[in-house]
Amino acid sequence: METYEKPIPKPDRETRPFWEGAKQQKLLIQHCLDCGAYQFYPQAHCRGCLSDRLDWVESKGTGCVYSYSVVHRAPSTAFDKDAPYTVALIDLPEGCRMLSNVVEVDPEEVRIGMEVEVVFGEITPEISLPKFRPVQGRTGSGRF
Ligand SMILES: [Zn+2]
Repeated sequence: METYEKPIPKPDRETRPFWEGAKQQKLLIQHCLDCGAYQFYPQAHCRGCLSDRLDWVESKGTGCVYSYSVVHRAPSTAFDKDAPYTVALIDLPEGCRMLSNVVEVDPEEVRIGMEVEVVFGEITPEISLPKFRPVQGRTGSGRF
């Protein structure tokens, strides 16, 4: 594996279960035991009712592109070879919105409302990043 030069997420108390799930190719989100809301990004309290009774559940792993932009000029040299690439807000069926990338597709073909599915790319032995690709109906890990 070549050296990964982009920023690597650092799991903390709130986010560790999410990253452990991603390692096992599971997209975990928080579920509030009091009001029933789902949330991402992980926090110590429910954003809806402030309850701290939060559980982790596996998202369906599908989503829909809410908004996106195509990055032509990378913000740093580590991203240069990726450009152009797509940064997108993905709506999950559970009602969460996740900032991610749409991969395995020409950025020019990405559309608002496009149906996508999660794919995990291992960047270090500890961290796998969830990204999304157009629904293809096949399984497997992505490379990025
Ligand atoms: Zn709640």
